[in-house]
Amino acid sequence: MESIFTKIIKGDIPAYKVAEDDRFLAFLDISPLQKGHTLVVPKQQTDYLFALEDTLLADLNLFAKKVALAIEKATGATRVGVAVIGFEVPHAHIHLIPINTMDDMNF
Ligand code: ADP
Repeated sequence: MESIFTKIIKGDIPAYKVAEDDRFLAFLDISPLQKGHTLVVPKQQTDYLFALEDTLLADLNLFAKKVALAIEKATGATRVGVAVIGFEVPHAHIHLIPINTMDDMNF
């Protein structure tokens, strides 16, 4: 079954795209924990982040790094926090959450 993120990748449901290449997509989370909260996903649908093949996982992280640095610049955040949860949507993803103080992490 197609995940909601696959539907976003295919353009079947809308999302605000932050960055994209042939293998990865970054888009704004629909329920942001902070302004600029972004999800980074592989276009290949795989249920769980750590089920990704090594090279894809490594390259996803390098893609996420570029996106995180751009988010840092765009939001002026001190740090971009990283979270890997993955209970709700069965499609590997990394949360990038701009933060300025530890209080921003009290979700
Ligand atoms: P959790 O909600 O437990 O963090 P996940 O790690 O699976 O579970 O996160 C799924 C994320 O996807 C949530 O932050 C949710 O807001 C986001 N999300 C769900 N549907 C959409 C959508 N259509 N567009 C953008 N983000 C979405």
